[in-house]
Amino acid sequence: MGRLEPGINGGRLAPAEYEANFADLHPRLDHHEALVASDRCYFCYDAPCMTACPTSIDIPMFIRQISTGNAIGAAKTIFDQNILGGMCARVCPTETLCEQACVRNTAEERPVEIGRLQRFATDTAMEADKQFYARAEPTGKTIAVVGAGPAGLAAAHRLAVNGHSVVIFEAREKSGGLNEYGIATYKTVDDFAAREVEYVLSIGGIEVRNRQMLGRDFTLADLTATYDAVFLGLGLSGVNALNVEGESLEGVSDAVEFIAGLRQAKDKGAIAIGRRVVVLGGGMTAIDAAVQAKLLGAEEVTICYRRGKEHMNASEFEQDLATSKGVIIRHWLAPKRIVGKDGKLAGIEVEYMALADGRLSGTGETGVIAADQIFKAIGQTFEANGLGSLKIEGGRIAVDGEGHTSLDKVWAGGDCVRGGEDLTVTSVAQGRDAAESINRALAVGAARASAVA
Ligand SMILES: Cc1cc2nc3c(=O)[nH]c(=O)nc-3n(C[C@H](O)[C@H](O)[C@H](O)COP(=O)(O)OP(=O)(O)OC[C@H]3O[C@@H](n4cnc5c(N)ncnc54)[C@H](O)[C@@H]3O)c2cc1C
Ligand code: SF4
Repeated sequence: MGRLEPGINGGRLAPAEYEANFADLHPRLDHHEALVASDRCYFCYDAPCMTACPTSIDIPMFIRQISTGNAIGAAKTIFDQNILGGMCARVCPTETLCEQACVRNTAEERPVEIGRLQRFATDTAMEADKQFYARAEPTGKTIAVVGAGPAGLAAAHRLAVNGHSVVIFEAREKSGGLNEYGIATYKTVDDFAAREVEYVLSIGGIEVRNRQMLGRDFTLADLTATYDAVFLGLGLSGVNALNVEGESLEGVSDAVEFIAGLRQAKDKGAIAIGRRVVVLGGGMTAIDAAVQAKLLGAEEVTICYRRGKEHMNASEFEQDLATSKGVIIRHWLAPKRIVGKDGKLAGIEVEYMALADGRLSGTGETGVIAADQIFKAIGQTFEANGLGSLKIEGGRIAVDGEGHTSLDKVWAGGDCVRGGEDLTVTSVAQGRDAAESINRALAVGAARASAVA
């Protein structure tokens, strides 16, 4: 199958090209590079990088440990705050978090490479199978966690460290959530997501039940009746519809589904891709789908976003990454109609948009972009059944500052809660903090029970 063959086809590239295209975006630093990179850190007092990290990792401390040859100690510093520090080192948009805050930007416009240093430390410890945590004395309490994504795994690990038993109910075949099914292939190139899950579970005391779905196989009421507490880390499993004519034509699909297929594919050449691809959306998912479409050999990939560059959720770095791979980003274009010819997808009619008095509206000027494949990356939604009277606000689960929901024994965190930032690292922080809140609540309950006895 040739590179320029029209339609949606696999095998557009030679095997070696797939391998080169899907290589690690930020390869791991070697020992010498890590020493050089760590040497650039000022080990700031009141370090702004640390404040900018949603999990509050002691960044100057771990960088100092690397600079003194103690990568294993550095990993412990990272894991103390973020047990998924290995994946976060690969996927965090550090350019908008810790590295944006790094004081080295001021003088040199180049931050300390915090993300790559974090990866160096965590990979070193995980490859040495270094275990840092022992479980506390068993508390006799069992907590149900629903969802084995970053939020659920972080919660389960912290609960297990505190001596509780945990049962994770996960709807999918594999654990890891979007770390396994969503993150772009070039950010996590091998089976790291699965290995990290194993690493987290190796603390013991955590049982995972895959293919168990809340709302289908059990309800929240079943869990609260059986377990001492429940943590919901359900993520966002719904997707927004375009609601335009032609949406059901073959070749129009969801970007998240496309990315999941690519992540699970053993042979990238088996993934069919169009010659001309249009991606609708302006976030990380749109960028990831577009870049990966290009890496699979699509000749022309265009992102259409209905607002301006400055409104895109994707960071400047991600936008630059996309354009450096040949993706065209077009702004102020909204989908109006999917165009078919002889029952086949032929393109998309778009309308130019403008802001008038702060409101986005169509200008009436339209045009057609030729396409044989269209990916929708226009946002995910919270979808779940079996939640009973759990309070939902703004389409997601309502929680307080500790992740406690409207129901006494139920906590939640990650993308499924109101105010979530839709980042892996924030989900980890919320799972961890909810686990601490559950731990405190159970300790208070236990103290009350022993006082009564
Ligand atoms: C395409 C894409 C790319 C992304 N890239 C990045 C990135 O590069 N960097 C970054 O920081 N963030 C990225 N994100 C965001 C990040 O992946 C999420 O913020 C993070 O995974 C949320 O973690 P979570 O645990 O809340 O949810 P998820 O990772 O979605 O995990 C939720 C888990 O719950 C399970 N589940 C759902 N419903 C049920 C049910 N009813 N019963 C049982 N189990 C259920 C799901 O199967 C899943 O395993 C990306 C997101 C997408 C969609
Ligand atoms: S802000 Fe930069 S220089 Fe300062 S501690 Fe953090 S990484 Fe080091």
